[in-house]
This record gives sequence, C-alpha cells and structure tokens, in this order.
Amino acid sequence: MCLFCQIANHQQKADIVYENKELIVFKDINPKALVHLLIVPKKHIKSINQLTKEDKDLVSQMIFLAKDLAKKQSIAEKGYRLTFNVGRGGGQLIDHLHLHLMGGGEIK
Ligand code: AMP
Ligand code: ZN
Repeated sequence: MCLFCQIANHQQKADIVYENKELIVFKDINPKALVHLLIVPKKHIKSINQLTKEDKDLVSQMIFLAKDLAKKQSIAEKGYRLTFNVGRGGGQLIDHLHLHLMGGGEIK
C-alpha cells in the first residue's frame, strides 16, 4: 500500500486537518509556505493522467474543499496556489493523486 493510502487508512501518522468519506487533508511534512496542505482522495489514483470520467465528482470535491480550507486558514483574500504535480517530469514524487494548497507569506 502506498504512503498516502496508509495515511488515509490511519496506518501511518499525519497531521490531519480534515477528513470525510472520500477525502483526507493533512499538513505537508516539508512545507513550502506557512500553510501547505495536501488534499488527497482516499481512493488510490496514481496521478491526473490516470483519471477517468467516474472521478469527475471526486476532483471537483477536491477543488471545492481547497477553496473552503483556504478561507478557514485565512489565506483566501491574499491568495494561494493550488498545484497538481503530474509524473516525475512534473515534480510528482508520491504516486497517489494529491492537490497542494499553499499560501500565507512567501511560497518557496
Ligand atoms: P509531490 O512532489 O507533488 O508528489 O508532493 C509530495 C508531497 O508530499 C511533498 O511536498 C512532501 O513534502 C510530502 N510528503 C511526503 N511524505 C509525507 C508525509 N509522511 N506526510 C506529509 N507529507 C508528506
Ligand atoms: Zn495510494
């Protein structure tokens, strides 16, 4: 089982800030901004490249959750960055779909 599947199953520790049936959100262990959260579907999908039509709602939920969390973390007004890294060439190191939410001060 991959690292993010283990976190989603509570078999590996993480600083979890939100969870529902489909998604889990935790703090990035190596933050590149004051606020750096990872929005992760519990379903194992390798990357954006592996998305299918049935994942449409899931990806939409990820983006709407990012918006809500940005507001909760008080970074919505100033602005923030949402990033999907795709494949090694795109900087993806963990092969389980995740959306980076970064903001607050400088983004490294
Ligand atoms: P990416 O390069 O897009 O695959 O992003 C993977 C992210 O996961 C990186 O920003 C890492 O710092 C982060 N990361 C790796 N291991 C953990 C962990 N155990 N808990 C939280 N974040 C992690
Ligand atoms: Zn996984």
